[in-house]
Amino acid sequence: MRVGIVGGGQLGRMLAMAGHDLGLACTTLDPAKDSPAAQVAPALVGAYDDREALLELAARSDVVTYEFENVPTASVSFLEERGLPVSPPYASLEAAQDRLVEKTLFTEVGLPVPSYAAVHDEGSLLDAIAAVGLPAVLKTRRLGYDGKGQAVLHHAELAQEAWRAVGEVPSILEAFVPFDREVSVVAVRARDGELRCWPLVANVHRDGILRTSVAPAPGLPPDLQETAERYVRAVAERLEHVGVLTIELFVHEGTLLGNELAPRVHNSGHWTIEGSETSQFENHLRAVCGLPLGPIDMVGVAAMVNLIGALPDVDAVLGVPGAHLHLYGKEPRPGRKLGHVTIRADDDQTLRARMLQVAALVSDA
Ligand code: AMP
Repeated sequence: MRVGIVGGGQLGRMLAMAGHDLGLACTTLDPAKDSPAAQVAPALVGAYDDREALLELAARSDVVTYEFENVPTASVSFLEERGLPVSPPYASLEAAQDRLVEKTLFTEVGLPVPSYAAVHDEGSLLDAIAAVGLPAVLKTRRLGYDGKGQAVLHHAELAQEAWRAVGEVPSILEAFVPFDREVSVVAVRARDGELRCWPLVANVHRDGILRTSVAPAPGLPPDLQETAERYVRAVAERLEHVGVLTIELFVHEGTLLGNELAPRVHNSGHWTIEGSETSQFENHLRAVCGLPLGPIDMVGVAAMVNLIGALPDVDAVLGVPGAHLHLYGKEPRPGRKLGHVTIRADDDQTLRARMLQVAALVSDA
């Protein structure tokens, strides 16, 4: 089977690598000639809304998927109108592209969220502050990622400044949650509706960028896993989602609050390459191609350390037992995700020790 992947970043690259093992012919589409995916699989160079490039991708594919949520929805419709199945579906993409649609969806399926209000101008921001309270976070509805397009607001007098900081575009104001921790639930849903859900992952972000993940999230009350599975199933079923679906959650006073969803493979699921019987990349492809899902049992316990901005001493990283290096073929640049290290162990204590060893080698962990 032939799979078109819109986007040729590291997620497209790791999807194409998993596809290779399954005998799937993956072609990526990305505006950059030297994209990470272009180094491992046939790649088309073109904008995500370039009709000619999309037609070429369609000609080379039996199914199309994507590696990031800001794919223009018009491009998805364009491919679907030409008879090409696109998974995850349009509804998943739409929900992920607009924080207001996303929060509304979470609320409708019973996933609690921080209190929020829509903001469309400075006046409505003041109304939203009155409704939501302070501190709060102002977030653009669209095109925000890794903490971009956000401003934390502590005083109503600074509302104008925050509105300017996010670019004076339609936004939502969300109560600031003094969360205990951040976790994510990564699940995969097959075409026939079967859903499999990996254990909750504990994530640490800095400056809005994911730094480390640990799976399973240590020390969580056992009922949270079941609750998270219920939430992700409800969201996936409402969207009729096919493929991997990730929901980022806050743990606050023993309960889960929904932050955002990603209708795709996710950075907090990278550990599954070594830490799960079947990786998120392979299971995503299995789902979108209509193949049976693979088992998702864990292989011991696992952690992931992102390599951001600069590369560590490769020899030293590889010298840590249980450490597996993944580099994405990118030039170092501040704030750029250049790769990650998965760390595997048979028990939590050993994992912790190995993770500290790797973190000590990584300047920005
Ligand atoms: P997001 O782009 O919405 O995932 O936000 C990036 C990061 O900002 C999150 O991973 C949190 O660490 C932080 N953040 C986002 N929303 C809130 C909130 N309502 N309260 C506290 N921290 C938040």
